[in-house]
Amino acid sequence: MKDCIFCKIAGHEIPKEFSYEDMDVMAFPDINPISSVHILIIPKEHIKDFMDFRNSSVLEKVKDVIQKIVKEQKLEDRGYRIVVNGGGAQVIDHLHFHLIGPLGKAVPME
Ligand code: 5GP
Ligand code: ZN
Repeated sequence: MKDCIFCKIAGHEIPKEFSYEDMDVMAFPDINPISSVHILIIPKEHIKDFMDFRNSSVLEKVKDVIQKIVKEQKLEDRGYRIVVNGGGAQVIDHLHFHLIGPLGKAVPME
């Protein structure tokens, strides 16, 4: 979608270091990380938010990519959080999953 920053990243219009890319899914570091690992995982297709997420095969792929990055970053032991903001909590209107770690269980939600 025109004027969507994450569509531009997905379309390689904005040069970016990617953590992962395939036909449907892309992962890249958050520009303003809140932890040493803070990666955004997005469907390349412009889906506005979680409530518009209907394509279960893409959901499955997003899950696989998140699991792969959790393993690569050795977060299974170090702790992690997967966050999807929605409604008024969402700033960028292109569905994205935040993978944040390492995080202990005692760290409160921001
Ligand atoms: P949310 O929409 O879930 O509230 O948060 C959007 C997230 O996208 C924020 O964590 C913000 O730092 C990140 N972000 C905003 N613009 C860019 C950008 O141009 N590149 C990257 N890599 N991250 C961005
Ligand atoms: Zn978009």
